[in-house]
Parts: sequence; structure tokens; C-alpha cells
Amino acid sequence: MQYFSTNRVSPHVSFRDAVLAGQPADKGLYFPTELPRLTPDWLASFRSLSNEQIAFDVIRPYVGGDIDDESLYEIARETVNFSFPLVAVTETIAALELFHGPTLAFKDVGARFMSRCLRHFSRNRAEKTIVLVATSGDTGGAVAAGFHGVENIEVVILYPKGKVSKVQELQLTTLGGNVTTLELHGTFDDCQALAKRALADTDIMSRVHLTSANSINVARWLPQQFYYFYALKQWEGDEPVVCVPSGNFGNLASGILAHISGLPVRKFIAACNANDVVPRFMDSQTYEPRDSVSTLSNAMDVGSPSNFVRILEIFGHRFADLKEKLEAVSVSDEATTATMRDVFSRCNYILDPHGAVGFRALEDHLNESGGRGIFLETAHPVKFDSVSDILGTQGDVPPGVLELFDKERVSIEVDNDYGQLKDVLVSKI
Ligand SMILES: *Cc1c(COP(=O)(O)O)cnc(C)c1O
Repeated sequence: MQYFSTNRVSPHVSFRDAVLAGQPADKGLYFPTELPRLTPDWLASFRSLSNEQIAFDVIRPYVGGDIDDESLYEIARETVNFSFPLVAVTETIAALELFHGPTLAFKDVGARFMSRCLRHFSRNRAEKTIVLVATSGDTGGAVAAGFHGVENIEVVILYPKGKVSKVQELQLTTLGGNVTTLELHGTFDDCQALAKRALADTDIMSRVHLTSANSINVARWLPQQFYYFYALKQWEGDEPVVCVPSGNFGNLASGILAHISGLPVRKFIAACNANDVVPRFMDSQTYEPRDSVSTLSNAMDVGSPSNFVRILEIFGHRFADLKEKLEAVSVSDEATTATMRDVFSRCNYILDPHGAVGFRALEDHLNESGGRGIFLETAHPVKFDSVSDILGTQGDVPPGVLELFDKERVSIEVDNDYGQLKDVLVSKI
């Protein structure tokens, strides 16, 4: 399998080189030259396979032999060694709970897969790898946990000060060791812009191997396809509508990829908060990135969603085809709050704000069009302080979260200034 850059200037590379580079030099995103199809036999029988076997079978063509089967199977097994239950919330709506991993959000899968791929590829390299990641909340914790203690790898995390929740901040700042956390005076988009600049900085790149662990890295992006197979494995009845709470659009792009390779899905819904660049694009065909605005679902506060271009690539930039498969809606904070209250009192189910955006968009769609559907519950409610303010409870606190409060918090405050980030990176070389 080869990967090309969506900007079409940088040369094609293998899976291995795409993972190691993170982003092509022309600042596009890597995208597979072919979209693998699963065989009808496999699609008819995958429901009886184990989660690890599904993960291995789905990812294998994308890896294209760059990791031997035995190692890849082991990576797949470690990546998905927790549960992904599909839980009925109403008669027509089920939640695919993606928060049963170590940092209680769906990004654990991509982060675990990527860290293990990098570990595999770094085995025989003398040089150190620095993983740089900008996070709006969940990515950083998942990446930090995925890479913590991995030899020859340094992790540098950038997050917007004051814009992540208490539990997220603890997950970001309490690991120590090879994980350095920078608290930036600015927004997530500022963090992402600085990270992109560092990844294009030839001075740093000539001295150390620097890579991104954001969802733009193919090893973070592609394994997210697994969720959709796990959802369908537990689903009975007609093709579901699948609703994905979206920010940077990596998760949704991977879901659509799973569908293209054969997974039956009637329609996808991109559920956004007030950051509505994609819903406006789906109405107007005009793509206008904006500054992000802060919302209750802070992990989706993205004004310039990087991965949307991958969705356009999947559909060959044919708008009519895209429109047939994808609907995009924006859900306000008021509607999010009302939905959390309503679902708690009606169904006794505690939604986190991201899941609530998904539930609202899905229920509205089903009320109009009929059918049944699945929304992805992307994080555990305990990660968001707003949940107890709104519902008076966050449900059961999972083990591990309480321990975080006793740990020492370490982070470095930086301005929205590339020089300060560069100094930190250079100090790790
Ligand atoms: C990252 C994140 C999202 C958005 O996912 P994208 O792939 O960026 O669209 C949604 N919910 C939670 C809890 C997240 O952490």
C-alpha cells in the first residue's frame, strides 16, 4: 500500500514512512492510493470473529506488509484489549461506548495503535523520536498514556490553558518521565498551528526525528475504523444510521472508509457543536475555516477541521456523492444541555456533552426520516466537569480517576510563540 499527499506535491510513501513522517512536506495529509474492499464472505461472517481478529483483518491491507503478520496481530490485540459495548438508550437509538479504554475516550485506540507501530519501526533505529501532539483535551491524554515509558521516544504535548477539563488536565500532566506537557496561552487552533510549524521546521527535522501523533497520522486515523465494525457486530436489524460527534473529522473519515470497504451503513451524520464549518459547507459548498469557539463539548472545538479533506478524497471530491451519504448538523450548547437532562430523566442514561451532541443530531434525523441508529459515545461523562453541574451526578467514577487526584501535576506554561516551543523541542534532542 502506498500513500499520497492530498496536496499532491510530495511523493508517494509506504505505510511505514507515512507513520514516521506524520505529515507530508507539502503539508497535505497522507491518503491511501487504493481503498481496500473486504470480501463478501468476510462481511457475511465478521460478526463471529473476535475484536482483535477484526482489527487485524481490517488494518492489514493498509499496512501493506510493512509490519509482519505476527507483530501486527500482536499490535492489534494490544490496541483493542478493552470493551466496546453497544448499549440501547431508546427503542431506536443505541450508544457505542468508546470510553472503556485507559483514558476514558475513543482516542485510546488510535493512540495505542500508533505508539505500538512507532515502537515496532523504531526498534532498530539509533535516533530518538519526538512525538509532538496538540490536543483539545482527549488526544493528549491518550497519546501520553500510549507512549509513556516507551524507550527512545519523547512525547511533547501542547494544550490550551484553561480549556480542558479537570480530569483531562490531570491525565495530561501527571505522567512525567518521557512525557513533557506545555500549557499554552491560546486556543487549540493556536496549538495545532504551532505543532504544524514545528513539523515543517527543517532545522529541527535535520537534528531529530519529529512526528505528530494527531489524528492526521495514518496510524492514529486508520484504526478508528474498528469501532464501526464493532458497532455492526452487535447490531441487529436494518442498516443503521451512524452519528459521529465530530471536531477534527478523523473519526468520521475512518467510519466512511469502513463503509467504503463494505460495512453496511445507511447514512452518516456528522454532529458538530457551534463550530459548524462542515455543516455550512454541506449547505453551501463553500468551505470557510474560522477561529474555533469554546463550547461544552470542548474536544470538538475545531475551527479548521484537518481531516475533512480526507472525506472529500474518499468521495473523489464529488459533492453529490458526499451529500447522499453524509448529513452534517450543528447542535448548540443549549440543545446539548437540554438533551443531557432529557436523556437522563427519560432513559436514565448519562451522556457526556460530546455524546449528547451526537444523540441530539441522531434523534432529530430519525424523527424526520425514520429508521434506527447508533451514535458514538466518545468519552466518559466523568471527564467533563459540566456533567455534574448539569445533571447533579457524573455516574460511577471509574477506578484510576480518583488516583489521579493524588498525583503530582507538572506542566510548563508557554505563550503562543513558536520560539518557546522550539526551545523545549531542542532541549529533548
Ligand atoms: C476528539 C474527540 C471528538 C472529535 O473527534 P474527531 O475525530 O476530531 O472528529 C469527539 N469527542 C471526543 C470526546 C473527542 O475526544
